[in-house]
Amino acid sequence: MRTRERDIFRKYLERRGLKLTTERQAVFDELFARHEHVEADEILVRLRGKGKKISRATIYRTLELLVDSGIVGRVRIGEIGYRYERLRAGEHHDHLICNECGRVIEFFEPRIESLQDDVCERYGFLPLSHSHQMRGICRQCRPRTSVVEAVASAERAKAGRRPHLVH
Ligand SMILES: [Zn+2]
Ligand SMILES: [Zn+2]
Repeated sequence: MRTRERDIFRKYLERRGLKLTTERQAVFDELFARHEHVEADEILVRLRGKGKKISRATIYRTLELLVDSGIVGRVRIGEIGYRYERLRAGEHHDHLICNECGRVIEFFEPRIESLQDDVCERYGFLPLSHSHQMRGICRQCRPRTSVVEAVASAERAKAGRRPHLVH
């Protein structure tokens, strides 16, 4: 299962003198079982539920390694922290993140992709990867969120980038 990504991860670990331990393998399996955006603590709960003895520190360390090896992506969710997702070569998407319910919506927009290439070209910059996120209020949350509440919510989220508010 997921042999290609596992090989990439194993080689990445080897270059750092690390091994693909059963704990690291368990975190890998959990992330690559399906496509989702999952929090580290959720992985901890699931693995404990399967009777695996694994510490929170090991999960966080393993997630750092997975992200650094390039096979796992990390989406910043306001103050709550991060969610993680498996990445597959040749597949790319960006995210809309709801400040109210934390929903993560994936999108792919060829015009944004090609505009980013234009920007890189202008600066003579070789792009290797990018992550594009817009924060706001999702369709489900909009009916019960006024613009005033939305602004307050954006302040609460203290996002690194300017929130994209919908009216
Ligand atoms: Zn929402
Ligand atoms: Zn995603």
